[in-house]
Amino acid sequence: MIESRCGILCEECGYREEMNCKGCVNITDPFWGPCPVKACVQEKALEHCGMCSAFACALAKQFAYDEKQGDEGKRLRQCRKWCEEVKG
Ligand code: SF4
Ligand code: SF4
Repeated sequence: MIESRCGILCEECGYREEMNCKGCVNITDPFWGPCPVKACVQEKALEHCGMCSAFACALAKQFAYDEKQGDEGKRLRQCRKWCEEVKG
């Protein structure tokens, strides 16, 4: 089960309870504002970035390695993991 378009694990996110967030894949407009990664994945009709032929593109990396909001690439590794799980 994927939890986000970019690879963030919602179960590890504090906003889930704090903001009663249903998760990026289940909502149309994130409470924190428009997300270009979410928009891009959905425009391509993909489930998450890992399924994209351009993965990991500059935008995905920019978010994943952002000094304040990033997770040092953890979400990109999670995207790869989701792809491997699908392949079995
Ligand atoms: S950063 Fe964007 S793609 Fe990632 S979980 Fe948040 S809304 Fe979804
Ligand atoms: S890897 Fe980049 S181009 Fe591909 S869906 Fe994600 S944000 Fe869009």
